[in-house]
Amino acid sequence: MQRYAVFGTPVSHSLSPRIHTLFARQAGVALEYTAIEASRDDFAAKLAASDVQGANVTLPLKEDAFALCAGNVSARARRAGAVNTLLRNGNGWHGDNTDGLGLVRDLTERHGLDLRERRVLLLGAGGAARGVAPALLDAGIHSLYIVNRTAARADALADALGEPGRVHARALDALPGLGEFDLLVNATSATRGGALPALPMSLAGPRSAAVDLSYGEAAVPFLAWARAAGCAQALDGLGMLVEQAAESFLLWHGVRPETDAVYTALRTQADALVTAD
Ligand code: NDP
Repeated sequence: MQRYAVFGTPVSHSLSPRIHTLFARQAGVALEYTAIEASRDDFAAKLAASDVQGANVTLPLKEDAFALCAGNVSARARRAGAVNTLLRNGNGWHGDNTDGLGLVRDLTERHGLDLRERRVLLLGAGGAARGVAPALLDAGIHSLYIVNRTAARADALADALGEPGRVHARALDALPGLGEFDLLVNATSATRGGALPALPMSLAGPRSAAVDLSYGEAAVPFLAWARAAGCAQALDGLGMLVEQAAESFLLWHGVRPETDAVYTALRTQADALVTAD
């Protein structure tokens, strides 16, 4: 029996064990996939003490996972400076980042969005934002505005992306003057313990699409704002979650699972959970 896990905090809500179990059944792979609660203080110790062959890493550990790989990372993880997928490599770990590809696949293939020449607002500069920013640029967007509560982190991400003509870091209080965006991405974890920053309606219009990388209750405030601001599409992160998981599965098992049936099963469950409240 091969063992895998997702590490993070909070992680008990994670759908990753369910997704990987469904993928494994589809591919005929015998595996056990669990969720392990780990903070920035004890992540390295808990990973070392586990006997997993591979792991997913979620908030707030993606930049720590990158450091833990000591340079043994894929090109896309290096560009992101963040790792969401670990693969055991001798006594160490190889790191990859499948978040960006997962988001772009979900937006373009599942939801039919054309990202080329789009003006994009990215809220957040944590591990998830670091993962999706390079993939959005590679998908041909026109420009990327990064806005984060801690302005220095937005600046650092913009610098790391290294495209000063296309990538701009802005402070939260600059939001009212930024104009309208074609795509708005909420990559913050703000609603998990605090509140979403105040977002002016002027950021969105009738042709805008909005996506919250979280799902379930955590996505409700941003998606409600997006609908109130008149966005044509308001999407949560469930599709991205399934697509990034499929890329991790491919890395670990050499097979890319079919994602639509798994997405549909989880969608039904997620919608039932939100409407139950
Ligand atoms: P991190 O902890 O690395 O980053 C959190 C980000 O949220 C930072 O930019 C932080 O700002 C910001 N933030 C936190 N609280 C607040 C607040 N009260 N007001 C404003 N900003 C705030 O988390 P991740 O980047 O890993 O995850 C972010 C979100 O994306 C989570 O909800 C996660 O579940 C989701 N996600 C979804 C995925 C999917 O597949 N659908 C994949 C990856 C993530 P600051 O720098 O100032 O602290």
